[in-house]
Amino acid sequence: MSNEAVKEPFIQFLGAAGTVTGSRFLISANGTKVLIDCGMFQGLKELRLKNWEPFPVNPEEIDAIVVTHAHLDHSGYLPRLVKLGFQGAIHLTQYTAALAEVILRDSARIQGEDAAYAAKKKFSRHNPPLALYDEANVEQTLDQFVTHSFHKRIQVATETFVTFHPSGHILGASFLEIEFFGKRILFTGDMGRTDHPLLVAPDSIPAGHFDAIITESTYGDREHTPASSNFEDVINQTVARGGSVLIPAFAVDRTEVILVRLRESMEAGRIPRVPIYADSPMALKALDYYRQAIDEHSAEIRENIARDWQGRDPFDPGTLVELFTPEQSKTINEPTNPCIIISASGMGTGGRVVHHLHSMLPNPKHTVIMVGYQAIGTRGRALVDGAEQVKMHGELVDVKAQIESVQSFSVHADSDGLIAWMTSGSEAPSQVFVVHGEEGAADTFADRIKSQLGWKAHVPFMGERASI
Ligand SMILES: [Zn+2]
Repeated sequence: MSNEAVKEPFIQFLGAAGTVTGSRFLISANGTKVLIDCGMFQGLKELRLKNWEPFPVNPEEIDAIVVTHAHLDHSGYLPRLVKLGFQGAIHLTQYTAALAEVILRDSARIQGEDAAYAAKKKFSRHNPPLALYDEANVEQTLDQFVTHSFHKRIQVATETFVTFHPSGHILGASFLEIEFFGKRILFTGDMGRTDHPLLVAPDSIPAGHFDAIITESTYGDREHTPASSNFEDVINQTVARGGSVLIPAFAVDRTEVILVRLRESMEAGRIPRVPIYADSPMALKALDYYRQAIDEHSAEIRENIARDWQGRDPFDPGTLVELFTPEQSKTINEPTNPCIIISASGMGTGGRVVHHLHSMLPNPKHTVIMVGYQAIGTRGRALVDGAEQVKMHGELVDVKAQIESVQSFSVHADSDGLIAWMTSGSEAPSQVFVVHGEEGAADTFADRIKSQLGWKAHVPFMGERASI
């Protein structure tokens, strides 16, 4: 595929096709190649193994990378591509760069630990076991970051112009307006909701005609249930029986949204003022960036938040305890007095939350509240699906605790939200590619676009190449 000299612009779907992770889309024309997002595959083993496959295009031939937001499934493969020879600029917004640094350093650390563990247990297919990348690759990746403001049109390669628009998903997150060899393309990245408590609502689609929209479809087949009192009821019931609440949460953004909600509920007297433990070093670093963005009055922070909370902390009702070290974390492994623990990872696949699950799941007085998307194959999904036992640290653990799932914290638009955003432009696009959804969600959403809007919509397969 080298020496590509096809003049007509085309797109290749190198990930997040028929699945929610590994976002990687290559746009090419006349020898110019630009990669949109560079995410890691996560979840099932067959997906994770894809991270080890050779990259379909020589990384040295890619002119630039543009990243929509910091989540690992959109940025996690960057250091690998740099390790494989990508030397160009990586374009992103200020806070995507800040949060990606936190996330990529953590990712390198986890991979190093996993490789060391595999070496000890001798189960790696590599001999000796390898990590996809290490700290040094992350350092090099950070050196290639070039940050930009929202709403500024920048050139990233020959006949390639990019404008970042706030997408309301996490701090720094954007959808991309791209002009590429005369074609106009929109990449949603992950589309947020209009009611994020801290972030401004997603921009409308810019005026004029688009040749293609590449849209996510994580929740393309469903609607979020309206924010209910359910969350507070569950906390009250648990505290009343002397139990504690564990909330596995993605370190970036979900933790912030939950903390704001807990502060509001405590201040309004709807839940008791029990200690809240934020137990994830990565979440605490991200939390500081949110505080910084609020203090800076950043453009993506809601006006009322920046105004009312400047110099104060919207995340702390007075009972917030930040746990930085593993020793601090261990002190709350078996909570005797009611408390609320927020810990990563959000799907219970790794991190400190696994220790809390291990100690809390067998006790019926505790509650675990799942608040995010739970991918197939994860412990979180098993719990939501009603598993009576889950495997942790090599042993089966009984699930006796109350398990609840609360959707109102989702930072993804649902099907209605995506349709509302897609119709916010002035003209129908020529075509829509539906990506970043499990098969059912993507197909259902594509069907809805076709039947309800009468637009051309298609769910590309992994590796598919389509002209724009
Ligand atoms: Zn995301």
